[in-house]
Amino acid sequence: MLRNHFETEHNLFRDAFRSFLDKEVVPHQEEWEDAGVVDRSVWRKAGEMGFLLPWAEEEYGGTGLKDFRYEQIMCEELAAINEPGFMIPLHSALCGPYIAEYGNAEQKARWLPGIIRGERILAVAMTEPSAGSDLAGMRTTAVDKGDHFVLNGSKVFISNGLLADLVIVAAKTDPNNKHAMGLFVVERGMEGFERGRNLKKLGMKSQDTAELFFNNVKVPKENLLGDAKGGFFYLMNMLAQERLTNACGAVAGAEAALNATVDYVKERKAFDRPVAHFQNTRFKLAEMRTQIDVAQVFTDRCVMDHNQKKLTPEVAAEAKLFTTELLCKVVDEGVQLHGGWGYMWEYPICKMYANARIQRIFAGTSEIMKEIISRGMKL
Ligand SMILES: Cc1cc2nc3c(=O)[nH]c(=O)nc-3n(C[C@H](O)[C@H](O)[C@H](O)COP(=O)(O)OP(=O)(O)OC[C@H]3O[C@@H](n4cnc5c(N)ncnc54)[C@H](O)[C@@H]3O)c2cc1C
Repeated sequence: MLRNHFETEHNLFRDAFRSFLDKEVVPHQEEWEDAGVVDRSVWRKAGEMGFLLPWAEEEYGGTGLKDFRYEQIMCEELAAINEPGFMIPLHSALCGPYIAEYGNAEQKARWLPGIIRGERILAVAMTEPSAGSDLAGMRTTAVDKGDHFVLNGSKVFISNGLLADLVIVAAKTDPNNKHAMGLFVVERGMEGFERGRNLKKLGMKSQDTAELFFNNVKVPKENLLGDAKGGFFYLMNMLAQERLTNACGAVAGAEAALNATVDYVKERKAFDRPVAHFQNTRFKLAEMRTQIDVAQVFTDRCVMDHNQKKLTPEVAAEAKLFTTELLCKVVDEGVQLHGGWGYMWEYPICKMYANARIQRIFAGTSEIMKEIISRGMKL
């Protein structure tokens, strides 16, 4: 289906980003997958090309393009090449905005230029071993000691956990109020800040996902973002954009899985005919085509609403729920239509299947999305 919300400048941006991926990412994907992490140098290259935080003000080195369609394009192109580890959206559309939105002028001047150049890689650490969906149940604490806070606790499943130079850590700041938490920027090298091993996962092999430990880490007050008790609100406020980012990548991932499957079933023969000629195959593919087109229209509309600051948390949750569930369905059908070859790592559909599964879990599970949507219905 023809999409109509991109202008010429977006198409040019897409071409430039795609060429960058072809040159700097695609040739390294296997190597990064084996290493369990992408090479730091690619972040700098992306920074040099202006692909990191393009929305940031020029005074910090950004290009001031406050248009979510650029983020959407990057999500789509990364999904199209099935690269789960080089998480530009996490850096640019999830973590960077915390600093731009809640950081003061000094903090922005201190951090944003390095972040935009790809010299300082970002991560956000909310989840703990015993608290994921229930963020208010987190146990990490930050105690006010006058000119600094002392952080104690641990976080788990943190994307960019090994590469990150600046980690935005959520920690409780008032034992009498479970929603009182602050967002602290913990820097590489701070005493007491340690990282665990690179966690072994079902998919997303090139993404470094780690456990982080904070043992009496002294975080200067200058590293607190906004209000020491406002962090919960800040997280909730940003999650709508995070979920839209997931949706953008999920629809593009579904499209890529459909394309890979269509190519395969046209080539593969069974009972003297291409697998594509069986009615079951055609019907399954037709269903996927239809559902992806519908999901794309909805997602594009959400992007335009978000540009106008009209995207509600409920609709962002609908987008994440629908598109990530669809992605998982499409990759599953895709593997089925590939037969045994679909289970082989050398086939893109196999990696797509493994990479997709987390989409229904992170950034809020499908069940939590339903909670948010139903709350909006005042049930
Ligand atoms: C690869 C990967 C990368 C990640 N990256 C990050 C990151 O960078 N930063 C970060 O902070 N976190 C990250 N996460 C964590 C992720 O966001 C959490 O795993 C997710 O929010 C779910 O939390 P949980 O794992 O504790 O599951 P739980 O909250 O324990 O949920 C278990 C089950 O219970 C269900 N459930 C929970 N509450 C309810 C409810 N109220 N109603 C109905 N069902 C419910 C859930 O839907 C789920 O099915 C990552 C996770 C993975 C695996």
